[in-house]
Amino acid sequence: MELRVAHLYPDVMNLYGDRGNVAALRARCERRGIGFQVVAVGLGDRFDPDTVDLVLIGGGQDREQRRVAPDLAARGPALREAVEGGLPVLAVCGGFQLFGHRYVDHDGSVIPGIGVFDAETRHPGPVADRCIGDVVVETPFGEVVGFENHGGRTYLATGQEPFGTVRLGFGNNGEDRTEGARRKRAIGTYLHGSVLPKNPALADTLILWGLQRRYGDAARLGPLEEGAERSAHAAALRAAQARARRPS
Ligand code: GLN
Repeated sequence: MELRVAHLYPDVMNLYGDRGNVAALRARCERRGIGFQVVAVGLGDRFDPDTVDLVLIGGGQDREQRRVAPDLAARGPALREAVEGGLPVLAVCGGFQLFGHRYVDHDGSVIPGIGVFDAETRHPGPVADRCIGDVVVETPFGEVVGFENHGGRTYLATGQEPFGTVRLGFGNNGEDRTEGARRKRAIGTYLHGSVLPKNPALADTLILWGLQRRYGDAARLGPLEEGAERSAHAAALRAAQARARRPS
């Protein structure tokens, strides 16, 4: 078997180690003898979501988001249709924001999104504190840990499922304890870190979803030795717990 992954704007949308998500997926496939192919999709590149098994997009500063938004908007209808058809997606932070309807950035400019998630992001302005620190989220894939650094606050429309519930950290907006968003097999999250190396169950879920898209429900993943992943997960959890104990 082979997993074919599209990485959107890898040279522009890549903050706080988001490339590590590709490395984690590659390692977890190749350790199982599963082939792994990455298709980098840059500005203006031809790309058909039906030719890949999984799509990744990382985070970016406001100016990078402004730079990719028009190109991503042109890809919006095909990506929305593919997500409705079960395309697995991991969209991190700035990428997550652009998979919502829009992002009103730090100087009030409206950056259009593609509306995969029924959500909107608004930056409260240049003097507002950023949402920064270690995060622990309760999700259907278990406890997920990571690191957040965003100015924008994301608000989910009624009926839009979150990725999870914040146990420690800010999450979407520091108010309603939601973190990220999920639409079928598309996941948006604020968690950098990168998120996949220290959350193997989430990484394997995305891999299995991608293999099932190509090979059907018969696709299966065998277990892997996960000492390093568990150690990284535990370290991130301790960091989040220590942060929660510090007086704000
Ligand atoms: N520029 C966006 C914000 O500040 C996203 C940042 C990021 O991707 N880490 O909210």
